[in-house]
Amino acid sequence: MAVPKKKTSKSRRNMRRSHDALKAVGHVECPNCGEPKLPHHVCGSCGHYDGREVVAESGAAA
Ligand SMILES: [Zn+2]
Repeated sequence: MAVPKKKTSKSRRNMRRSHDALKAVGHVECPNCGEPKLPHHVCGSCGHYDGREVVAESGAAA
């Protein structure tokens, strides 16, 4: 059976565990269309942010 050759030091063990606290980025529902989106980001579904459309849904955004 495979056995670690060296003891994992406190430093390496803690460096590994430091990542355990990381969580997936959350999301909120777009107030305009209800689709899940990242907080503080323009909605990828309808292009709205802060109550107004900032990205055109189709065609060129000017
Ligand atoms: Zn939306």
